[in-house]
Amino acid sequence: MFGELEALLLHPEVVNRKIVLLSIVGAFRRGKSFFLDYCLRFLYANYASIKNPSNLINADNWIGAAETPLEGFTWRSGTQRDTTGIIFWSDVFLTGDRAILIVDSQGLFDNETSTADNSKIFSLVTLMTSIEILNLQGLIQEDHLQYLQFATEYGKFMTSPGQEHKPFQNFVFLLRDWNNPDEYPFGFDGGQKYLENTLVVKPHHPEELKSVRTYLKSSFEKLSCCLLPYPGKTVARDSNYDGRWASMDEEFLDELKILISSLLKSENLTTKKINGIEVNGKQANEYFQQYITIFQS
Ligand code: GDP
Ligand code: MG
Repeated sequence: MFGELEALLLHPEVVNRKIVLLSIVGAFRRGKSFFLDYCLRFLYANYASIKNPSNLINADNWIGAAETPLEGFTWRSGTQRDTTGIIFWSDVFLTGDRAILIVDSQGLFDNETSTADNSKIFSLVTLMTSIEILNLQGLIQEDHLQYLQFATEYGKFMTSPGQEHKPFQNFVFLLRDWNNPDEYPFGFDGGQKYLENTLVVKPHHPEELKSVRTYLKSSFEKLSCCLLPYPGKTVARDSNYDGRWASMDEEFLDELKILISSLLKSENLTTKKINGIEVNGKQANEYFQQYITIFQS
């Protein structure tokens, strides 16, 4: 993995730019890669890239034609995962003085990877990324929060202790197949209210629930949440589905478009900071190399 990442970070167009690293984590077969592939459509339509330096920007129609099959990170139906670990998209998007890298992950939280390996991968991704999406189906559960704490405590050791900045950056809970739009509407606004309600510390909470909430709030610069509707039967079940948006429920398509344009618009692309300082490709490469070496030991 490292050779690939190094080549991207040290690319002449990337090495002196600030780094934005967007990642997605979560259990397999929950639409992570599918979601990232729609993110890639947005990115290719809005930004130049190292493989496409003179990209013809087509921002208004980023979603593309209704019948176009989905391409990018492999996604598919079925119950077997197809790769494990962290997968970097082989292209880097460029906007002004920033370079955007996209990371997919696989094999986390499945029965074939041990808890220790899961935590290492999760921790490593959290350390490296400036925007991390945790993809979940349904509600945020207490064990998700506890896992998040457990896994990131690993990585916290690697940041300089005793400073006032928080070790991790933007964290987005992305809830798929959201079923309670009457209580909490779809999108970031409903998600934010749901998250606040979930993370509030109540006097009657047992110590464990209090401490996980305090930990998360003190470890991440920003916690947000977005609620997506059920995509429709074809997307969820059809084993021959090719990813085209023509087959999505209209409600899902609308929310997906809003979510992706908001997540990836220029002003929301948080740059990677390490120990409170923005890093460029060269510096990020040095830090990431250290992290990976430590995690492999
Ligand atoms: P990953 O393992 O998390 O990367 O999942 P994939 O992106 O490979 O998608 C697995 C399956 O979930 C595919 O059949 C997708 O069509 C389907 N899928 C995509 N988005 C959603 C969603 O929001 N809800 C449901 N129920 N299924 C989805
Ligand atoms: Mg996948």
